[in-house]
Amino acid sequence: MSLTVLLVEDEQLVGTMVRMNLESAGYQVVWSRRGDEALSRATSDPFDLILLDIGLSGMDGIEILKSLRQKRIGTPIMMLTARGDVGTKVQALEMGADDYLPKPFDVAEMIARVNALVRRSQADREIPSSHVFKFDRYEVNLQTREAVTNEGKTLLSEKEATLVKLLVRSRGQVLSRSDILEEVWGMDVAPTERTVDNFILRLRKLFEPDQERPCHILTVRGVGYRFVV
Ligand code: CA
Repeated sequence: MSLTVLLVEDEQLVGTMVRMNLESAGYQVVWSRRGDEALSRATSDPFDLILLDIGLSGMDGIEILKSLRQKRIGTPIMMLTARGDVGTKVQALEMGADDYLPKPFDVAEMIARVNALVRRSQADREIPSSHVFKFDRYEVNLQTREAVTNEGKTLLSEKEATLVKLLVRSRGQVLSRSDILEEVWGMDVAPTERTVDNFILRLRKLFEPDQERPCHILTVRGVGYRFVV
């Protein structure tokens, strides 16, 4: 079954281009041109992703975002906007947008980010609702950050827990150091790739039966890491 994207865009040219490219990437697209109409669609039908323009008639994208999150609709949302300023970006992210793409954007980049976001949210659904992830002799509560580790019961730091969450979500896949930096450190003051390695060392100390021969958090030479359970 193909995944469905709700595209909310009032500009004919941009909308046509985005729809065409999403469809050739295999998505089904529902295109809504007005803000108020988009909100009622997003509320009544399930979508795998919403691509949401900010400047719209009827209701603007920020209002739609706010309203959806207030209604506890957790569909991943990527904001599309001409307003590339940092204020709007921060506002959108604080209100629960998952990503932000300033116009004009490169179509290939948009598709790559849509794919990444959809993959992430599909994988999130696989984390049990109890938030407790168990593997080997270990246990991590992804919500409270409490873990059962080689050091006994441990409270993970926020960054450690975010990294564990990323590993769990992407298990089996190779993550580059820059993927990890982007997802775990995001907009914080940029640390170096060595920071990633140090965090991985710390996690191995907690979650590997033998740190010298990791069997869960594997090094992928020249690329990054891969988590296997
Ligand atoms: Ca617009």
